[in-house]
Amino acid sequence: MPELPEVETMLRDVARPLIGRTIVAIDLRLPKAFRPAGGLRPADLVGRTIVHAYRRAKMLAVDLSGDLTLLLHMRLTGQLAVERPDGSRVAAGHPVPAFGAPLPHRSTHLILTLDDGSRLFFTDLRQLGFLLLMPAAEVPGFFRRQGYGVEPLRPEFTTEAFQELLRRRPRTKMKPFLLDQSLVAGVGNIYADEALWLAGIHPLREAGSLPDAEARRLHHAIVDVLSDAVKYGVAQVLGGKALGRHVLPRVHGRAGEPCFRCGTPIERITLGGRSTYFCPACQPLRATEAPRGMPPLPPPLPTPVSHQGGRGENIPSPLVGEGQGRGGPRRGRGSRPAGSSG
Ligand SMILES: [Zn+2]
Repeated sequence: MPELPEVETMLRDVARPLIGRTIVAIDLRLPKAFRPAGGLRPADLVGRTIVHAYRRAKMLAVDLSGDLTLLLHMRLTGQLAVERPDGSRVAAGHPVPAFGAPLPHRSTHLILTLDDGSRLFFTDLRQLGFLLLMPAAEVPGFFRRQGYGVEPLRPEFTTEAFQELLRRRPRTKMKPFLLDQSLVAGVGNIYADEALWLAGIHPLREAGSLPDAEARRLHHAIVDVLSDAVKYGVAQVLGGKALGRHVLPRVHGRAGEPCFRCGTPIERITLGGRSTYFCPACQPLRATEAPRGMPPLPPPLPTPVSHQGGRGENIPSPLVGEGQGRGGPRRGRGSRPAGSSG
């Protein structure tokens, strides 16, 4: 499922560049995917200008003129793509269909045409993703009802705030703890495994068993893994298998492969119905001062990653496929985002 880094990438590369554009036509091909609030219809999108876009947990929010908001949830296989009038394309989300494949795909459920001739495609193989249209004033209440926890890349996600969450659920095992959206919002199956591996903490450890040093290490690891994925390339997973050796994920989807840190074969267990990957040597079941051979964690980020500035840094965006017409995607490092995570 697209997790925080994947949705952040959609926001930065697909949605934010559309701010200022006006929707001139809507082609809804899977009516059940579109759930307008009472009194609203899909056609109410037409004539609205995109004024703002942001992310909350794993949802993408697009504010429209006339005080409406369109919320998109990608679930397991959602993909967003924009095809510009010159035929160039930017896409993010699930890697199927391929980012350069002809659109609309048979699983494209919504096409919005914009006033410059660009077209936005919402494609979702499994048909689990959905779009909500509601008055902007109802959005804060909607998010409150979802019960989302702290945003891990925001300043309020401090070590102390994380330790307070750990104290609140002392008997919860760390993998399900990290997947609980009411505690930390946006972390899913892939990045939970990555953060636990980076911090050297076994997924079956209980939250209450982490001494301060480990809690601090895990807090840093969560922030590092998510912000690295946003900056340098989201995890490349297809059909539950990690792709490539020099990109994220470093442990998820790598059962039997040597641990990047110590060479021990990575193990896979099923926990709460989810595939969970860990290194039995680096992530022992007891508390540790520091995992064996673990490089020191970088210091805490001086300021949390800003999500307000678009592509503020001059870092190539490997998170999205850039394709020209039918020519196929031009893929750099990390061009395929996370797919199904088993
Ligand atoms: Zn290891």
